[in-house]
Amino acid sequence: MRRLREFNGNKAAFAFRIDLDFFHPRHVEETLRVAERHGIKMTWFVNMQTGQFHEREIKRIAKTQDVQNHGFLHETFGDKEANLENVLKGHELLGGMDVKCNSFAAPFGYWNQALGKALEETGYEYSSEFREGKNVFPFYPKLAGKKAKVLQMPIHPICLGNLFESGYNEEEAIEYFDRIIGLLYEKRLPIFLYGHPTGRLGAYPQVLDSIFKIAKQLDGIWFTSLTDYAKFWREKNFRERKTEWHKHNAFFENKPGKARRIKQFYKGQLLRVEKKKIDRRLHR
Ligand SMILES: [Zn+2]
Repeated sequence: MRRLREFNGNKAAFAFRIDLDFFHPRHVEETLRVAERHGIKMTWFVNMQTGQFHEREIKRIAKTQDVQNHGFLHETFGDKEANLENVLKGHELLGGMDVKCNSFAAPFGYWNQALGKALEETGYEYSSEFREGKNVFPFYPKLAGKKAKVLQMPIHPICLGNLFESGYNEEEAIEYFDRIIGLLYEKRLPIFLYGHPTGRLGAYPQVLDSIFKIAKQLDGIWFTSLTDYAKFWREKNFRERKTEWHKHNAFFENKPGKARRIKQFYKGQLLRVEKKKIDRRLHR
């Protein structure tokens, strides 16, 4: 298989984005442990509404991992000033913990023009929210008709939570990731995945462990972080690289009739887990 300039002379590039919303110390610790055992630096976007109370843990994560900004309120606003205030509040709280950020991931992946404009004012290098049509590689979104300064770092949009919500169990989720990693590798596309520790990766660490093992079996793979890859992409100044491949949700299906786990959280505490059958009518 050919080596690509876009993969820094490797056959593939792998990165994992963590969205840390409700800070659940045990699930965070489990997730971190898997990454450290594999020697993989993931990019953790930490929401600071609960993150502000976990300085010790965040400093601990930052020792081996890449920590970035997931805002203060878990929300994207319709006006620039409100977004700017939210991004800066997350930035300052992390800065107070000696964590320097240069990127943002919008809550729920909701990017809009108002957020794009706010991010330009922060001088951030990239944000990670979405894929637009055939843009699977990094690209500069249009901002008021012009090319934005802040790079967009797309990720594969299906996370473990989506799979659980669609009736997958752990084994089926691992099988899904195995297939999607194989497909991205074969199609020469970035293997950029994401997930949440609380109630998901941290509660089922064997899923993340399997994902890393699957990726490590591939030949010529470059393990990077979103931040390092964004820096590489900006420095090389690659031309926009669109792909014909746009089936982002390949293999993804709802599994009606299967029992799924419904988890309820309050302030990061797992309150209860119940099994529930998925109503076929809701999942057409
Ligand atoms: Zn989030």
